[in-house]
Amino acid sequence: REDLAGRRVTVAGLGVSGIPAARVLHRLGALVTVVNDGADERAREQAAALEAEGITVRLGDGDTLPEGTELIVTAPGWRPDKPLFAAAAAAGTEIWGDVELAWRLRRPDSAPWLAVTGTNGKTTTVRMLAAILEAAGLRTAAVGNIGVSLLDAVLAEEPYDVLAVELSSYQLHWAPSLRAHSAAVLNLAPDHLDWHGSMQAYAADKGRVYEGNTVACVYNTADPATEDLVREADVVEGCRAVGFTLGTPGPSQLGIVEGILVDRAFVENRQQQAQELAEVTDIDPPAPHNIANALAAAALARAYGVPASAVRDGLRAFRPDPHRIEKVADVGGVAWIDDSKATNTHATEASLAAYDPIVWIAGGLAKGATFDELVSAAAGRLRGAVLIGADRALIAEALARHAPDVPVVDLDRTDTGAMAAAVREAARLARPGDTVLLAPACASMDMFTNYNKRGEAFAEAVRTLAAERA
Ligand code: ADP
Repeated sequence: REDLAGRRVTVAGLGVSGIPAARVLHRLGALVTVVNDGADERAREQAAALEAEGITVRLGDGDTLPEGTELIVTAPGWRPDKPLFAAAAAAGTEIWGDVELAWRLRRPDSAPWLAVTGTNGKTTTVRMLAAILEAAGLRTAAVGNIGVSLLDAVLAEEPYDVLAVELSSYQLHWAPSLRAHSAAVLNLAPDHLDWHGSMQAYAADKGRVYEGNTVACVYNTADPATEDLVREADVVEGCRAVGFTLGTPGPSQLGIVEGILVDRAFVENRQQQAQELAEVTDIDPPAPHNIANALAAAALARAYGVPASAVRDGLRAFRPDPHRIEKVADVGGVAWIDDSKATNTHATEASLAAYDPIVWIAGGLAKGATFDELVSAAAGRLRGAVLIGADRALIAEALARHAPDVPVVDLDRTDTGAMAAAVREAARLARPGDTVLLAPACASMDMFTNYNKRGEAFAEAVRTLAAERA
């Protein structure tokens, strides 16, 4: 375990990871300076609170390396091409992200990590995994963007047995010495490329999750890039590559046989070729991408030695988080689904693939995405589309190109009330048996504070509609 007493540590970024990191480092006796680009009112308040505890804070300049810095602990979102890091490299100063810090500071008896990364599905998979581990009677936590913070988890007085850890590509970039027990890369699609610089660099950062794994590297057979990352990783001898598939599993894979999740990687006795784990209908919702998430979670749990019955019980106990393919209501035979968390095209593709026919509500901030592939894959299943938000024209154009017969209502609105109008338009287009799906394929910040608020606006409008029709 790292001894940081007396060392000069610069924490880059006041924020959800920086503030607790600064406090822990200060408590451990490090001489902490926090640097932050912004100096708005919130930053000044946060700085004042830290300074009262004896931590130095420099606001309004996140790029000058404080004199004598021996180590930088950075917020994961800070881009590697920031001048601060160039200055650190020139001075030979080490840089750790929040995950690296947690890894280095973990108590000697702290739990092994089962790690999950990927472009989409991380939070869901980590929560499924925690549910399975809990069902096995283990003391565990889902750690990452959700639930317990990583630092709290590794410093916990009463140690956990095992941790289910969500890791972003940013965090992995800054976590060179992390060694998980087992890890899964769920999928790889272009995302955050401006930050990483290229798809190759993004994939390489994701692939870091496999480095030094001891028991299993779990990959997606439908996404060969994930298997390539396993092949390139340097792992402990005896560590296995384990695939998951929505089809029939081969040896060393988990998959689906006639509606049953089947494990052919971690069988419980030698005579046995396959172990049945659970039924597809135990998974909520039983959409293909979510079955894939469940298989990945099951693979990691089985790598840790969890019995089949716990996989089943855990999946049955699991409930999805709000705004992730969440059913809001059935109104007159039409199902209304909130997937406000589908903020990119890859996520949206997964939820559009799960329903037929669909009235699709989409639009928002496109973040440089193109929609041709998404729309052409879904064209045959669209009853209609209702578009809102700043970049809706991009989706309208893709619909005109690939789904010219699908009726499109282009609501020329970006106010918050637009969601209620969109719900009314969708109700007009939908017929009994259809699904109305809010899967925006875009970020929400043009109209809402975040995707939660967007999903809530949708749900409220749907409930109003249901009350009127009751
Ligand atoms: P993350 O934590 O990676 O952002 P979430 O579990 O919060 O992932 O899911 C985000 C969105 O991504 C969901 O609303 C859903 O639309 C989509 N999604 C979930 N799992 C997958 C998957 N395995 N493949 C593609 N899309 C997915």
